[in-house]
Amino acid sequence: MQPSMNIKNLVKKEVAGLKAYSAREIPCRVKLDANESPYGLGDALKAIEVIDTNRYPDPEAKKVRKIMARDLRVKPGNILQGNGSDELIYYLIATFGGPVLYPVPTFSMYGIIAQALGEKGIGIPLDKNFDLDTAGMLSAIKRERPKLVFLSSPNNPTGNCFSADRMLKIIGAAKGIAVVDEAYQPFAGGQGFLTFLRDYENLAILRTLSKIGLAALRMGFLIADETIIEEVNKVRLPFNVNSLSQAVAVEALKEKKQLSSFVRSITAERDRVSRELEKLEGVVPFPSEANFILFRVKDPDAVYESLLKKGILVRNISGTVGGCLRVTVGRPEENRAFLEALRKILISGQGE
Ligand code: PMP
Repeated sequence: MQPSMNIKNLVKKEVAGLKAYSAREIPCRVKLDANESPYGLGDALKAIEVIDTNRYPDPEAKKVRKIMARDLRVKPGNILQGNGSDELIYYLIATFGGPVLYPVPTFSMYGIIAQALGEKGIGIPLDKNFDLDTAGMLSAIKRERPKLVFLSSPNNPTGNCFSADRMLKIIGAAKGIAVVDEAYQPFAGGQGFLTFLRDYENLAILRTLSKIGLAALRMGFLIADETIIEEVNKVRLPFNVNSLSQAVAVEALKEKKQLSSFVRSITAERDRVSRELEKLEGVVPFPSEANFILFRVKDPDAVYESLLKKGILVRNISGTVGGCLRVTVGRPEENRAFLEALRKILISGQGE
């Protein structure tokens, strides 16, 4: 081995400046940190028994795309499968390049992937209600002519949907591709922005199975005009979604009633937890249309640590949104444990 080789000097400067995404596994009793569903679909696992392990997966994920196309009332040619929707964010930036525009705070991967691929990321702060700053976004579009605009609605980590009229103004003004990331759309109800696909040829929508009980599969979808799909498909790795995930997804997606009853329980619990948080002195929950709630406390670091000591894991995002923690909605008993622990912490003054 050459002793003097410094591998770090070989790394592209954009990558050298990044930190690896931290998805540390923190031991806990109640896991409410990652916006997962508390309900899985274990029965769907029987689908993997008939898989030929010696064969590559269907490179086009035809069965899953067909089911999704039927559910979303589009053609299979309007859908591209990803190994999670974050892989599709990567592919979009690899296909269209930058600058990449997004509001802040939002899902961190838009900026991280842009940087990793050597593209410029532009973050425009949300307004005081966590809605889009239309003027700020429009002037960034004019000034920087972004190739891609990402709008996560409902937005992670704030939990709200952006106003539709503001989104449409931005999508209409964009000279590049406008991506509406609907990872949390099932919890907001309605059709989301699918209905606008016909009116805006630059509109692309991201969906995922991760938030509705199938995070283990890593399965996301890009829904857009066929021209967009065909271009992004050129950068897709040939077998990006494995056979096990495809088979389980097909099985799970047949369970429509089960899936929607899980979503209903989660949204009902979300509203209940929000009301309970409102009753707590020193806690300000923000309105959520997702499966998590952003809330402000006086000393977020202390509250985070005290919750963890009691076995409750939430996400400390005070570095991104001042004073705030984010809690994922779990099963009723998990939510009760969280609220009970938080109440005790506030009463005892540990979170002061
Ligand atoms: N978009 C948003 C807004 C998210 O919050 C997440 C997950 N945290 C993703 C995309 C990525 O989801 P997936 O598991 O499909 O990669």
